[in-house]
Amino acid sequence: MSNNIQSVRGMNDCLPEVTDTWQAFEAIVRHWLRRYGYREMRTPILEHTGLFKRAIGEVTDIVEKEMYTFVDELNGESLALRPEGTASSVRAVIQHNLLYDGGKRLWYAGPMFRHERPQKGRYRQFHQVGVEALGFAGPDTDAELIIMCADLWRELGITPSLQINTLGDYESRQRHRTKLIAYFEMHQDALDEDAKRRLHSNPLRILDSKNPAMQTLNDAAPKLMDELDEAALVHFAALQTILHDNGIAYEINPRLVRGLDYYNRTVFEWVTDQLGAQGTVCAGGRYDGLIEQLGGKPAPAAGFAMGIERLLALMETGSVQLATPVPDAYIVHAGEAAQAFAWKVAATLRGAGLDTVLHCGGGSFKSQMKKADASRARYALIIGDDEAAAQQVTLKPLRDTAEQTRVELTLAIEYLQR
Ligand code: ATP
Ligand code: MG
Repeated sequence: MSNNIQSVRGMNDCLPEVTDTWQAFEAIVRHWLRRYGYREMRTPILEHTGLFKRAIGEVTDIVEKEMYTFVDELNGESLALRPEGTASSVRAVIQHNLLYDGGKRLWYAGPMFRHERPQKGRYRQFHQVGVEALGFAGPDTDAELIIMCADLWRELGITPSLQINTLGDYESRQRHRTKLIAYFEMHQDALDEDAKRRLHSNPLRILDSKNPAMQTLNDAAPKLMDELDEAALVHFAALQTILHDNGIAYEINPRLVRGLDYYNRTVFEWVTDQLGAQGTVCAGGRYDGLIEQLGGKPAPAAGFAMGIERLLALMETGSVQLATPVPDAYIVHAGEAAQAFAWKVAATLRGAGLDTVLHCGGGSFKSQMKKADASRARYALIIGDDEAAAQQVTLKPLRDTAEQTRVELTLAIEYLQR
């Protein structure tokens, strides 16, 4: 056993090779969001624990057992590492009165924290990109959220499939809840431990059970669909019309309930069977009651969040490779005059917008050339005292078999910029 300190279980380092890929992914995502008129918002990673209890729900898995909560010893406040981004976004929107002049299209990205059992596609620190359309009531907004996802999947070369459902409005959910409790109470003996625990706190979550022994009971349970009000049904139908008109395939999954309490009406998930059990890459829906629930002036809202780790894993099975940057030049130099000139050359190249690594630490030409190769640079720029005297450089291609050439610096720059 080594007694070196390791990273916390379920929390990963992003090493440079992988970070290159993440940056390429993030660049695509930023441009995509800009094309749809969404603007970024950055909120703190720590929030008051009460925010998540109120927003996500006291008896959800996230709040009950996944949240990293601690007491700030300096003032006794209970704080939590954010497990998701919607609660913070809505808190900030209320705090800064952002909806004073109408709806806002917002997005965020960053680490989220949940104390879950780490496995492939499930980590304790993971990363989401989330989108919130706040202040918009119509099904056109739900459709926009879904259609923009489809657009991103095309660009990323992945093909997750879309499941949608409607949870109806508060009143119909309450009616359904009452019927569910009555139904499960009638079948007490058939309930597993989880179901018994949730019977009165969160009966809807019983339907989400992965226990095969619960399936028959769940299949025959009262359906929310039978309780839905006309307005919610019209909303759901209108969403489907827009999806249909825009060529978006979907499946209605009446079982889709989502693990967070704040959803109403439309909910959706993008799922894949290529990532094993961790198959949901993006999930969202409408949460018209949340702003008011957190103390804001009532306003409708909808959004989604996607898991970056899962999306990148899915991309590995696809055909699109994210282009990651390599240095344009690695400058190799030996001799005193050469070194002095090499500093100037490096500054000139960088001034011309070229990514340039200047060799540090001396060593033979041969060992420097090995480093140049390992740097993945396109070219080695070789400078000896001869080159320095002539104010020239020798340009050696590292990624093909072309001959090396000795040229004026200005010519080398033109060459590298091509
Ligand atoms: P799951 O059912 O997989 O636990 P969830 O319903 O808890 O997901 P959401 O809260 O909807 O997930 O978060 C949105 C997305 O964030 C998920 O679809 C997934 O891609 C990603 N995600 C959630 N939890 C994790 C995690 N622990 N590790 C990695 N990605 C995660
Ligand atoms: Mg979860």
